[in-house]
Parts: sequence; C-alpha cells; structure tokens
Amino acid sequence: MAKPLSYTLILAFLLAVIVFPVDAKPDTTIVVTTLSVLQDYVQQIGREHVTVTSLISGLENGHSYALKPSDILAVRQAHMFVTIGAGLEVWAKQLVESAQNSTLEVVVTSKGISLLRNTGSIHTKGGKHTFGNPHIWLDPENAKSMIRQITTRLIKLDRANRRDYLANQAEYLRELDTLQADIKRRVKKLPDRRFISHHPAWPYFARRFGFKIVGNIIEHSGAEPSAKHLSTLVQQIKKTGIKVIVSEPQLNQKIPQILSDETGARVVTLTAMPGALPGTNTYTSMLRFNVSTLLETLSP
Ligand SMILES: [Zn+2]
Repeated sequence: MAKPLSYTLILAFLLAVIVFPVDAKPDTTIVVTTLSVLQDYVQQIGREHVTVTSLISGLENGHSYALKPSDILAVRQAHMFVTIGAGLEVWAKQLVESAQNSTLEVVVTSKGISLLRNTGSIHTKGGKHTFGNPHIWLDPENAKSMIRQITTRLIKLDRANRRDYLANQAEYLRELDTLQADIKRRVKKLPDRRFISHHPAWPYFARRFGFKIVGNIIEHSGAEPSAKHLSTLVQQIKKTGIKVIVSEPQLNQKIPQILSDETGARVVTLTAMPGALPGTNTYTSMLRFNVSTLLETLSP
C-alpha cells in the first residue's frame, strides 16, 4: 500500500493542475521518462511523433530524487511513462498510483536484462527485495534492448506511425553498433584500463569495453564512505599504481579530490546521465565523452 498523500501535496497538486497544463505538440504521444537517458531514447525513436519530458535532469541524483507535485501532474497527463526499474526509481510506484491515469502505458526498460549483483545493488528497507545494479544503460547492448521495448510500446499506442518508429529504430541501432565498434577499437590499444569509481555506476560499461573497476568510493547511493574505507582505497591506489579516480557531477566532489591529494592519482569527471556535462546532451555523445576522457587520462 502506498502512503496517503499529505494535504499539502494534494493542494500543491491541485494548484499545479490549474497553473501548468502540459505543453504538448498536437497529435503527439505524450511521454514522461524518469531519467534524461530514457528521454533521449524516446526522442530518437519517436522524433516528431512524441512530446517527451524527463522528471530528473542530468545533474540531479536519480537515487535520492524527491517527487514534486508537478511530477504527478505530468504522469497524469501522459500516454506513456518510461522507467529503468531494477529498484532505481524507488518512488515510481507511488507516483503512478498517485497519478490515477488508467490508460497509462508503463514501460520498465530493465525487463529481460540480466542484472549484475556484486556491487551497487539496491536493497529496500527491511532487506526484503534485493535488486541488481540498475545502471544497465551504460552498456550499449543493454541500451539496444531498452530501445526495442520503447519502440514496441510506441507502436502499440500509435500504430499509424509504425513504419517511422521502425525506421528510426533501425537507424539508431546502426549508430550504436558503429559507436560500440569504435569504442572497442580505441580501448583495445590501452595497456592500463583500471580506475576507482565514485559510486557503482560503471560495471556494465566496464564489462562491455574491458575496463577494470578496482574500487568504489561509495558502495550504495546515500552512503558516505567511512575513514577506514578511504584509507583502504588510498593504500590500494598507492600499492597498485592506479592512475585514475572517476568522479561524477551528481555526487559530492570533495572525497575524490581528497583521494587524489593523498595518492597523486588524477580525478576525471564522467557522467552516467546525458546533459550533466558540456558535450553530453545525448546518450551517444555522453558515451563518446566518457571514453575520450578516460583514454586521455589512461594513455601512457
Ligand atoms: Zn547511480
């Protein structure tokens, strides 16, 4: 059972209904996504046939996001709601219930993707449900599966434009194939592919392209590292000669800097969310940016 909404939230919601009607292009499928990466996928496939917005911008932290009354309104007025699932958006269920939109098409894009469980898994309160690591989209092979699900659902809602969706999908999947091959070729030349990561966002990316994540500064979202954990990381970096610490703009920048000051390893800022750094507005430009930044820093 979802918790009943407070009067303040209901009042704010009613005000939002009056003040902010959705500004959709006429005759488009209105899509709301949780994350900016999903917004980009929907835009690539739907193009002129969709009006798509993301609840969370590239710079916000998807794990600790606090729902706003305008989010309920957006989902109430949408045809489709696209999520990652796998425990990432712990607030999505309550959002859908509060929106009371009986015709809403809910897409859980992690469906059918096998999750990595070693690090970064999400544990709900009480430990009843344990999900795997939800950062699936950073492997383009997973992205392809997510994109196919989005295409299928867009066609379900708007059969008249089926050919367009399929053509856009084919073009986008080809672009991802080319990008993936290009990244593999560039990474292959690299003798040292090890890094320390800020939070466990990168295991799918690392597995696909042959990087090695030696340690994480924080193991779960919301957790702060202990002094003991940090001193273990410092020793590990010194002993094994790790050259790179990957920081993320959505998280506290201080701790990666402290580790760098202690060890001489360089901090580089990558993003798992499109739009968080200049030159990362789309999924593909974000992947290129992350790989180029890693290559520059790791190259001998
Ligand atoms: Zn994350």
